[in-house]
Amino acid sequence: MVGIFRQPVSADDVKRKARELGADLVGIADGELMNRHPPDPADPRRPIDITELDYRRVIVLAKRLNSGVARIIAWGDRTKFYNDELAISTLEEISLELVYWLEELGYPAIIVPPTHVDPWRYQDDPRQHMTTLLSLPHAAVEAGLGTLGLNLQLLTPEFGPRVILTAVLSSLDVEPDRRRTESLCLGPACGRCLKACPADAVRHWDRDWPACDEYRSPYGFAKLTSHIETVLSESNLQKKKELLRSETMFNLWQSILRGAGVITGCRRCADVCPVGDDYQMLADALERIEEDTQAKQLRLVDMVRAQERNDLPEHYNAQERWIGSLIPEKSA
Ligand code: SF4
Ligand code: SF4
Repeated sequence: MVGIFRQPVSADDVKRKARELGADLVGIADGELMNRHPPDPADPRRPIDITELDYRRVIVLAKRLNSGVARIIAWGDRTKFYNDELAISTLEEISLELVYWLEELGYPAIIVPPTHVDPWRYQDDPRQHMTTLLSLPHAAVEAGLGTLGLNLQLLTPEFGPRVILTAVLSSLDVEPDRRRTESLCLGPACGRCLKACPADAVRHWDRDWPACDEYRSPYGFAKLTSHIETVLSESNLQKKKELLRSETMFNLWQSILRGAGVITGCRRCADVCPVGDDYQMLADALERIEEDTQAKQLRLVDMVRAQERNDLPEHYNAQERWIGSLIPEKSA
């Protein structure tokens, strides 16, 4: 019945509005196609699982992360966390304004933020890797914004992986964008994301997500519960008080206030990635990778050799749709 209120709208209109509102990148994915191709069929998180009515187009919005903090090398620098949190807040406001605009035209719409995880999936284990309702990097690939890299981070031609994403679901009758089929990633021959990772979480077209979570959410729920457990189990009253007043507790408090260090954290793999037009502004600061080791280099050599034999890991095959086809001379 909402159809009678609807004003005509085109994909260009939607994208123009999103850019006017401040989005740096915008693409539109086909919700039905995403329903048919969930990134993890064993745990499908599809647009139709969020809404049975307003899922037919998935508008993916991106805001770039600022270059100044990418040039700060320490992964745990709190200035980085705060700057990124501001980018998330800004993009969430842009998404909400886009929703209101669509609804004024007669199209009900819903935001999928980058920070909201499904509480029904939580199994009383603070270290459990939690995911958003929809995988936003996969949605961005479906919307034509880029492809996934060696550690499954989204790479865009404009800003490489240095973007934050949201999605707006709405059943608009507009032309969706097409997925890019050729990988943007330079593969293990580059491997800079693996070399820079402080958690050593980067795998061959995969990521050890629980290991990564300790760094990308350093003052999140896992840290909060473990620190409170430490305080509670301390029998010496003076030491208990010191733990309560410690720097860790101070950082937890600050992180709870704004989400900086909870919904933002390590992004070293994104900072050092040479893909993206913006990298020229970063290169001089990020050329040297302090975290690199001989063991990491040897693992990359093994990956390159495996690819030369066309011996790609199972995970690549499962994710090929979003990683894209590899260009041998670039990725091996
Ligand atoms: S976010 Fe940090 S810990 Fe996670 S893969 Fe990237 S560099 Fe590694
Ligand atoms: S740093 Fe290199 S290997 Fe890693 S995602 Fe970027 S291009 Fe791919």
